[in-house]
Amino acid sequence: MSSLFYPREARCKICNSPLRDEIDEMLLGNHCKDDGSRWRMEEIVDWGRERGLHTSIAALSRHKNNHLNPAIQAALETERMVEAISQATGRKLSVARAYANAVLAKTLRVLDDLDWQSLDDNQRLRAIDRGLRAGEVLSRLERADVRLEVAAKVEQTLSEAGAGAEIIRRVREIYGLE
Ligand SMILES: [Zn+2]
Repeated sequence: MSSLFYPREARCKICNSPLRDEIDEMLLGNHCKDDGSRWRMEEIVDWGRERGLHTSIAALSRHKNNHLNPAIQAALETERMVEAISQATGRKLSVARAYANAVLAKTLRVLDDLDWQSLDDNQRLRAIDRGLRAGEVLSRLERADVRLEVAAKVEQTLSEAGAGAEIIRRVREIYGLE
């Protein structure tokens, strides 16, 4: 499974550590100790400390339950969805594109629910940002063409809603296109 799908929690040390991928593999049991047994929580904490990551069992549990497991669930759901769409349509849909579509749908839903005209520019930007962060994924998508496609759809929606050039520019920034 690709780390593409693992959103980062801003305040979680483990999410933001360069050791994260390895720690996640240990927590999932995909990576075992030399003797073939699974890493225990306190051993992972020690392993991290030796490499400069100072964390605790409590923080590690929090990361596992609140950040890692939901991300795995979301990834599995996406895989199932991609599989279902492929079977129904006979067309291959890339996981990146399927995920981008899901995030886009969420973003547009957030925008739809707003009384757009009554907001000032900053509030509008925050709303867009929130919609995008709901997925917290697009900026990490390696497929720039998919990002571009999603950004274009959001831009079109925003233009129709009367958003100015500055907002559109910031949206492109959020998508990592500027
Ligand atoms: Zn975390």
